[in-house]
Amino acid sequence: MLERTEAILSDLIAHPTVSSDPNAALIDHMADRLESAGARVEVFRDESGQKANLWGTIGPEMAGGVLLSGHSDVVPVADQDWSTDPWQMTERGDLLMGRGTCDMKGFIAAAVAMAEDYAATNLRRPVHFCFTHDEEVGCLGAQSLVPLLKEREALPAIAIVGEPTEMRIIEGHKGCCEYTARFHGLEGHGSNPDRGVNAVAYAVRYVTRLMELAEELKLRAPRESRFDPPWTTVNIGKLAGGVAHNVIPGRAEVEWEMRPVQYGDAEFVKEQLRHLIETELLPAMRAVTPWADITVETIGEVVGLEPMDDNMARALVTQLTGGNSADVVPFGTEAGLFQELGMSVVVCGPGSIAQAHKPDEYVSRQQLAECLTMLEGLRRNLAA
Ligand SMILES: [Zn+2]
Repeated sequence: MLERTEAILSDLIAHPTVSSDPNAALIDHMADRLESAGARVEVFRDESGQKANLWGTIGPEMAGGVLLSGHSDVVPVADQDWSTDPWQMTERGDLLMGRGTCDMKGFIAAAVAMAEDYAATNLRRPVHFCFTHDEEVGCLGAQSLVPLLKEREALPAIAIVGEPTEMRIIEGHKGCCEYTARFHGLEGHGSNPDRGVNAVAYAVRYVTRLMELAEELKLRAPRESRFDPPWTTVNIGKLAGGVAHNVIPGRAEVEWEMRPVQYGDAEFVKEQLRHLIETELLPAMRAVTPWADITVETIGEVVGLEPMDDNMARALVTQLTGGNSADVVPFGTEAGLFQELGMSVVVCGPGSIAQAHKPDEYVSRQQLAECLTMLEGLRRNLAA
């Protein structure tokens, strides 16, 4: 099985599926493989036809199965010093090198390699495969899949997201939401501030409220939060606007992010800001010119994976891997989207996040073998 996994991985690495580039060829290829193994496969393309998500099922058509989930896109190799061709899997002792080996084509290869064995087993509950596009740029593929999955009755009960955790069980991570707020005021001469609408001044009021909210979020931290820091954080990443001392600035821009630790925090912050904009900032700006405006663009909203006391996925994967603890991590994944769909979710996959996104990215055979042990255990667990 390890040999088969390596062959599939080598194939996957040869598809340079950087997030900005198409992934449809890789998805079609995996769809063929899964279909010939006996899976029922659906491929969902985006409008361009260049990007695709895959959903596959082996076993009975029913709710309560187990989902194996991975993203097919990888981060760029530009400006990185690789000692091998990143798009050709290279062996170095026990290590398999190439872009995406650990993040996270190794897991996908192991899952696809197991498909024939799953199909040959009389399964009590189905195994599902979900391979997505554009995870690295805000989970866009998975987000586009969510409304389609919501319609279904035969949804999995458990999801294993195979991001590189060195096969440790991860039951929580913060979300990540990024926004750009743009302030459109009215330029004028600095000698008569009341005739203009100072976009920078309004941006500062917005930032001030954000900083107050950052303090309020500390008080909302769940008492048993294991995150570091334990609360939802806010960062003002960029504040720009204005031209010179004596000009009323007509434009300003604020780039900021927050990393929610629980459902509700992001909505709380957004609602508070909406209130500020609608009841204070815009009325004051528009009293001078009706053209004044504030727009807030959502750059990305990746929901967090909230640790749950009762987590079937944790119980299952603990049994399969023999792991005896479950952690939280600082990086984001698609896991929270599946949790929002009502699944019980953990992140557990081969390779280390320390190698992800780096030159000479690798996964070890040892890690792939451990992953295959988990997936084989899953087969036995689901066998009738
Ligand atoms: Zn990843």
